[in-house]
Amino acid sequence: MQNFVMQILDGKKLSAEIKAEIADTVKKMVLSGKKAPHLAAILVGNDGASRTYVASKVKSCEEVGFKSTLIRLESDITQNELITQINQLNNDDSIDGFIVQLPLPKHIDEEKILLAIAPEKDVDGFHPMNVGRMTLHLPSYISATPKGILEMLNRYNIETEGKHCVVIGRSNIVGLPMSLLMQRRSQPGNCTVTICHSKTNDLSKYTLEADIIIAALGKPKFLTADMVKPGAVVIDVGITRVDDASTKSGFRLYGDVDFENVSKKCSFISPVPGGVGLMTVASLLQNTLSAANEEFYKKTIDFSVDNI
Ligand code: NAD
Repeated sequence: MQNFVMQILDGKKLSAEIKAEIADTVKKMVLSGKKAPHLAAILVGNDGASRTYVASKVKSCEEVGFKSTLIRLESDITQNELITQINQLNNDDSIDGFIVQLPLPKHIDEEKILLAIAPEKDVDGFHPMNVGRMTLHLPSYISATPKGILEMLNRYNIETEGKHCVVIGRSNIVGLPMSLLMQRRSQPGNCTVTICHSKTNDLSKYTLEADIIIAALGKPKFLTADMVKPGAVVIDVGITRVDDASTKSGFRLYGDVDFENVSKKCSFISPVPGGVGLMTVASLLQNTLSAANEEFYKKTIDFSVDNI
């Protein structure tokens, strides 16, 4: 008999809560004579999913009282032209932070583009400087999806210390930073972390031992109930669009977890949609709010013995 009650990790509720907090802070900033935070987004080309993501980011900015600027560029823009645009934003004091929506067209080298963004304006947290600062537990922009997951664990008071966390996926934007964050000396954090990926043999061996599973691989319903220990916390990051003529949009969104069956076995689970995806946008707003605070990025490395 299981002795726990399954709880849904409600990204919709949490993101609304976070947005309300940010809106309140912005109101106070503006009342005290400061300017509202300003986020810019560069969208290259016409990819449907990217357009949807950027539109939701811009709309969220409006909801919390941020200023937002959307810069739309043609898909045949050259790499150098894009870098020139990025440099303009780097040098524009009216912009606190900006993002370049990925993926970019094939002829543009994403790494070069990410490196061109000034780290102090890189609110997506993809620049190596921010990844390094995050790793060393310095003030940094933590990439939005992992940051949203930390926020979710925190706001549901999920104890992570001493727990075994298995992260499935090692991408630069989700799996890798997530695994580093879960082992950091903090709450959430202080986990023993195992990172699994496409070359992991016998994945179930690890997931069955996990207290917390974070699935970020992009394979619909990949994590099944027989791979999960009773009472585990399961965070589903995956979002895959699958064509479905019966829906208005023509597609349906699937997570990486077989929600119907896994949810019967675990203590907490995040749904798709309505879970991590909404937290991601809220985290981007939090990062932009931090970027508007000039002091945020100034702290340097503390190498004192107590900090080990
Ligand atoms: P990615 O394709 O860059 O990385 C996938 C990772 O999964 C790789 O590291 C790979 O090694 C691993 N993997 C693939 N097959 C595997 C297998 N059979 N067993 C174990 N590991 C395997 O993807 P990503 O950018 O990290 O995104 C992952 C998923 O999360 C996608 O569905 C994406 O749409 C979604 N996503 C959601 C959000 C959000 O806001 N909720 C944000 C980013 C990504």
